[in-house]
Amino acid sequence: MKVPFLDLSLQHRALREPALAALAATYDATRFCLGKDVEDFEKNFGVTLGYPRVLGMNSGTAPLHVACMIAGFGPGDEVVTAPFTFISSAWGINYVGATPVFADIEEGTFNLDPARVAAAITPRTKGIIVVHLFGQPARMDEIMAIARRHQLFVIEDCAQAVGAKYRGAPVGIIGDAGTFSFYPTKNLGGCGEGGAFVSRREDVQTKARHIRVHGSDRRYYHDIVGGNFRMDGFQGALLNVKLPHLARWTARRQEIARRYLGGIKLADVRLPEQPAYGPSVFHQFTIRHPRRDTLREHLAKHEVGTDLIYPVPLHLQKCYAPLDRGAGSFPGAEQAAATCVSLPIFPELTDAQVDHVIATINTF
Ligand SMILES: *Cc1c(COP(=O)(O)O)cnc(C)c1O
Repeated sequence: MKVPFLDLSLQHRALREPALAALAATYDATRFCLGKDVEDFEKNFGVTLGYPRVLGMNSGTAPLHVACMIAGFGPGDEVVTAPFTFISSAWGINYVGATPVFADIEEGTFNLDPARVAAAITPRTKGIIVVHLFGQPARMDEIMAIARRHQLFVIEDCAQAVGAKYRGAPVGIIGDAGTFSFYPTKNLGGCGEGGAFVSRREDVQTKARHIRVHGSDRRYYHDIVGGNFRMDGFQGALLNVKLPHLARWTARRQEIARRYLGGIKLADVRLPEQPAYGPSVFHQFTIRHPRRDTLREHLAKHEVGTDLIYPVPLHLQKCYAPLDRGAGSFPGAEQAAATCVSLPIFPELTDAQVDHVIATINTF
């Protein structure tokens, strides 16, 4: 039985008619940059997931950049973030001339270890970028306590955690700014690039709204330095078609995860921890095994697709060689990169496919 790691065609085939109708309406109305479709999406996203204000942007990297601009990070400033994440979590820090400082992750959740964050704080630290990796909320209580103690600006990278809650609160509005990605492979994926910015702070949201459109509130009057971070109309239209299905898709991801958690019995496998403070929305289901590469080969032989997310931690990427944090600097992240393997977990998987993955792992 074939089990692809991810197959986007199933979801897009099922939604083909409403999606193409929505795109056609946007085309006919020439609503190409922001506009009604994006405004509708911002409203719907906010109402559905519990955000007071939402701004559609043109990628998940964009709102991270915007958040770093608003935070006022700059040359000489340090911003603490995780070394085990997608590289984009850290880019915004570089874009504004500040310096990324990594703090190691905890083993069970792959997320920032608050004790390591506290230890990474120096007089130059201005902020923290928390990543809710693989859909699993990070330990926000402890991280916010550190931020309050040192007056730090907290950005939540929710690119993989759309719909996730931490102690009942939607991720993204616990810190000062929250960011989402609608890259096609994310839990809520567009047909192209897309992202969103949220904040519980009206001042932060207003600034982000101006920065998104060249630092302007009134056309051709530019009060602050901004850029072009606008979501396009087609993405808004498409995401409006998909959003009503997100709760069902998330529930299905969680159901598949429960099946994996209950079924995988292979010795030496480390399953992802399930902390009570915030259930994962399972963007990825990532396990660890000391012989990860051979396990992957075994799965491939039985037609099960897997992926390495992520094979190289940020501090060991060539682009961050100037930070001079060599091998051994963050053993938690390095160990995760060396032993992790992500299993198929998209909503359209059948129970039989999931059971095939489990049986294949258990016979390794
Ligand atoms: C996908 C992702 C991003 C960036 O989103 P893009 O839409 O690809 O720019 C940022 N952070 C994390 C953790 C991601 O997974």
